[in-house]
Amino acid sequence: MAKRDYYDILGVQKNASKEEIKKAYRKQALKYHPDKNPDDKQAEENFKEAAEAYEILSNDNKRQRYNQFGHAGVSGTSGGFGGGGMTMDDIFSSFGDIFGGHFGGFGGFGSSRGSRQRVNKGSNLRVRVKLNLQEIAAGVEKKIKVKKYKECSLCDGSGAAEGRSFSNCSMCNGTGQVTRISNTFLGQMQTTSTCPTCNGEGKMITRKCPVCYGEGIIKEEEVISIKIPAGVAEGMQLNVSGKGNAARRGGINGDLLVIIEEIPHAELVRDDNNLIYNLFISVPDAALGTAVEIPTIDGKVKIKIDAGTQSGKILRLRGKGIPDVNGYYKGDLLVNINVWIPKSLSREEAKLLEKLNASPNFKPQPSKSEKTIFDKMRDMF
Ligand SMILES: [Zn+2]
Ligand SMILES: [Zn+2]
Repeated sequence: MAKRDYYDILGVQKNASKEEIKKAYRKQALKYHPDKNPDDKQAEENFKEAAEAYEILSNDNKRQRYNQFGHAGVSGTSGGFGGGGMTMDDIFSSFGDIFGGHFGGFGGFGSSRGSRQRVNKGSNLRVRVKLNLQEIAAGVEKKIKVKKYKECSLCDGSGAAEGRSFSNCSMCNGTGQVTRISNTFLGQMQTTSTCPTCNGEGKMITRKCPVCYGEGIIKEEEVISIKIPAGVAEGMQLNVSGKGNAARRGGINGDLLVIIEEIPHAELVRDDNNLIYNLFISVPDAALGTAVEIPTIDGKVKIKIDAGTQSGKILRLRGKGIPDVNGYYKGDLLVNINVWIPKSLSREEAKLLEKLNASPNFKPQPSKSEKTIFDKMRDMF
C-alpha cells in the first residue's frame, strides 16, 4: 500500500514551522486517540499514521531527507517508524508528552492502561427534547440552545496568555522527564519517568490567558442542531459524540446526551411501533355499513366499515404506524371498533328496538371464529 504524504497526513504546508507541525499533530492525535475511539481499527491506523508523520517532520534531519527523497529517504532510519510496525506503546513513550499538561494533574503515566497516557475528557452534557408523534414518525432536526464549556479561542485552549507566557519547568529543566540514578548491587540503574510537576509538558504557564484565566475553557451558549431519527421513544438516549463540554486545557470534548420525551397524541395511542385508535360507531352504521374519517399521523383518512361489523373488530392499516428506530420496518395503525350502544332511549326508540328484537336477524349468531377470543388476539399480532 502506498504511503500517504506526511504533510498531507498532518494537513500542513511544506514550509510549516515546527510549532505548526506540533500543533497539527496534537490535533490529529487527539482526534484519533484510542481513548476517544475504543475498538476503532481505522482510528488506530490514523493515529499511527499521524505519529509516523510527526516522527519524521518534527526532526530537522529526517524532514530534510524526506523533502529530498520522499519516503525512501527515511525508511529504516534509526529509532524511526519509517519501516512500519510501530506499536501504540512506541507512540505513547515517544510522543506522550505532546498531550502533556492536559491531564488535570494526575500525571500521565501509571493509569490502568499501563504506560498509556489518558487524555483529559470534558464532561458530558445532558438535554431533554420534547417531540410530538409527527416528529417521531418522520424524524426531525432540532436546534437546541445549550450552555457549555468551549475551548477558549484566545489561547486555543492552552490557558496561557499570548506570547511567551510559558517558562521551562524548573523540576525537569524543560525536558518533561526526570531521571533518577540509583545504586544497586548490579551497578547504577537509571530510571526515567514523566515529570510530575509539569506532567511531561516541560513548560509551565507564567501568565494566564486573560479570557479563561488559565483554564483553557469558557462557558458559552451554543445552538446545536441534532438530527433525531424516526422511531425514537420516551426515555431513549441519543449520544452526540464530541458535543459536550470541552476539557480543561485541551483534550477531547465530552458527549451531548439527548434524552427523548414524547408528547402524547390527542387521539392516537402508541404501542411500541403500532398506533391504536379507538373508533366508536353507531348500531345502525355497524349493521348497514358506512365510511368514517379517522386520524392518522399524516392527517385524516377515510376508511370503509363493512355492513355487519362487530364491536371489537380490529382493522389494520399497514404501515401507518411508527417506523422502527433501526429502520427495519414500519408499525401499523390498529383501528379498534366499538359499536356504541345508546345509554338512554326515548319511548319511540325503545318501541322500535323491541320490534327489531323480534326479528330473527337480531338474535346473536356468532360464527365459530367470532366465538373464540383467540382470533381477536391473533388479529392484534
Ligand atoms: Zn484562554
Ligand atoms: Zn517538568
